[in-house]
Amino acid sequence: MNTTDVKNQPSCADNFEVDSLSVDEARRRIQAVIAPAKGFEKVAIRSAMGRILLEDVISNIDVPSHTNAAMDGYALAGTDLPGRGVTSLRVIGTAWAGQPYTARSGPGECVRIMTGAKMPDGTDTVIMQEQAEHEDDVVRIGTGHRAGQNVREAGEDLAAGEIALHAGKKLAPAELGLLASLGIGEIKVTRRLRVAFFSTGDELRSIGETLKDGEVYDSNRYTLYGMLERLGADLLDMGVVPDRRDALRQAFEHAARNADVVITTGGVSVGEADFVKEILAELGTVDFWKIAIKPGRPLAFGRVLDSVFFGLPGNPVAVMVTFYQFVQPALRHMMGEDHIHPARIRAVAGSKLKKKPGRTEFVRAHLHADDKGQMVAVKTGFQGSGILSSMSRANCFVVLPPECTGVEAGELVEVQLFEGLV
Ligand code: AMP
Ligand code: MG
Repeated sequence: MNTTDVKNQPSCADNFEVDSLSVDEARRRIQAVIAPAKGFEKVAIRSAMGRILLEDVISNIDVPSHTNAAMDGYALAGTDLPGRGVTSLRVIGTAWAGQPYTARSGPGECVRIMTGAKMPDGTDTVIMQEQAEHEDDVVRIGTGHRAGQNVREAGEDLAAGEIALHAGKKLAPAELGLLASLGIGEIKVTRRLRVAFFSTGDELRSIGETLKDGEVYDSNRYTLYGMLERLGADLLDMGVVPDRRDALRQAFEHAARNADVVITTGGVSVGEADFVKEILAELGTVDFWKIAIKPGRPLAFGRVLDSVFFGLPGNPVAVMVTFYQFVQPALRHMMGEDHIHPARIRAVAGSKLKKKPGRTEFVRAHLHADDKGQMVAVKTGFQGSGILSSMSRANCFVVLPPECTGVEAGELVEVQLFEGLV
């Protein structure tokens, strides 16, 4: 029996097909043909949140620019610290943040200093004010201090001439502050990707229309909108396109002429693919894959005219799973981002999870800390690929690898978090 025969054998064991691609293999094939888009924009740092840095940023100054006090207290030379007993030092002046004390502090002397103030010449150590006794112009200091303590060195955060941020970095609040600390107000970021998307299906109605028998509202365009918006893409929403040859061909052409990436949902499963296949064969090179994944088995990938094309399945949860596992990493790579692998953590399965071997399963789950502080992932109810509420209730995917044949409650599983802190 050859492979084709096996594939065409009717079977009720719909778990593994010999011509299915693994999740990793599909990712590799996508990665092999996409490249970062050319072009950049110069933006003010307040407009740079979530954008990707085009070039390395070299620090032009030391941050901090001067060695300064980390505490309010007294600045002195470490050599004046007492070996035992108590020493008395004369307070010769005050150093404020932004108003340095300019004279030199000599042996037996010290300077009252505020946090952030430049360390006066002749001093290298700060005694916290709570640990000193101050009377008139004399300060008494005991033992237990270390020369050099409570001082921040010039350049200890960023040194002049060093790379402060690497190209490909996604800019988050810390990076905005870091750029500001270098005095940089404008930055080059990669340009936004233009993404066109539409839903296919005769049964789909848009919001505002009345549902007739057998029809459903088009929800995929809204989840797609949300997922693409989060990525900072420039969006072209083309609405619902009916399952008609001319309408589909026109939509594909318009999308590809106007966008870097075209994403559709629906119409790539066995019953419908032949139709879409013909059009896409005329307009580009598209492969129709069966991926060993649940949910989200069918996926089309390739080129339409000069654009990258993803044909996602129609089922609402499958759309989100395939987007996060394949489309999002690809778009992030195209946008020039360098670190695109989502964090995975280990957690305890909150219940038994049934699983067939041979495919990767993404179980929607809610992760929480139990009363012992242990992270537990609890499945969010029925996992059908059309049950969007299972996504809404979840805050993570439990990722069950192909070789897994099921998990008992209490076993460790791998989890992909939906959201990070920063
Ligand atoms: P398909 O992949 O086109 O065969 O669609 C699979 C299932 O997903 C069907 O039940 C469709 O009605 C449903 N579906 C397809 N597209 C959408 C959409 N845009 N919004 C909501 N459900 C959809
Ligand atoms: Mg359809």
